[in-house]
Amino acid sequence: MPSPPETISLGSGRRVPYPIASSPAASNVARANRRANTSPEVQLRSELHRRGLRFRKDFLVRMGGTWTRPDIAFTRARVAVFVDGCFWHSCPEHGTVPRTNVEYWVPKLQANVARDRRNTAFLHDEGWAVVRLWEHEDPVGAAERIDCLVKLHRRRTIARAADTRAKRRRPQRVLSKPR
Ligand SMILES: [Zn+2]
Repeated sequence: MPSPPETISLGSGRRVPYPIASSPAASNVARANRRANTSPEVQLRSELHRRGLRFRKDFLVRMGGTWTRPDIAFTRARVAVFVDGCFWHSCPEHGTVPRTNVEYWVPKLQANVARDRRNTAFLHDEGWAVVRLWEHEDPVGAAERIDCLVKLHRRRTIARAADTRAKRRRPQRVLSKPR
């Protein structure tokens, strides 16, 4: 049986001891956390569908040298939605650090939060509005907020396009002829 690696990379040259589940119960908790992340997302998607909104799932957005995949993306309105898991993204209400393998979990969870901030900033630079929701948030209320934002952004996009067209149509300034 191959032995697990002794350390694991966190990127930027940082390595931490490889986490070894302290008990089968601890591994079950970790697995359940991952599974639970999908359910609020599914609820939110069906709520958005019910409102007649159409969107892309896990759409790849390239941003300079990097990329991200919003859970839900409105590509024309440029609205990106992330449903962040309370554990993986350190929700202030439900975020916890497992008591075992602290050397692994603390930097790992901090790196997740830092990456979320970076990706949000990159998306803003690319003209996207970004909605970050916690998995514990009510999907109906969240869908309503997203609906408003998408409509607002769609109007802005249309207004911008119309403005560009108008500028293009504007006649060239006629220079007065020299006497
Ligand atoms: Zn939470």
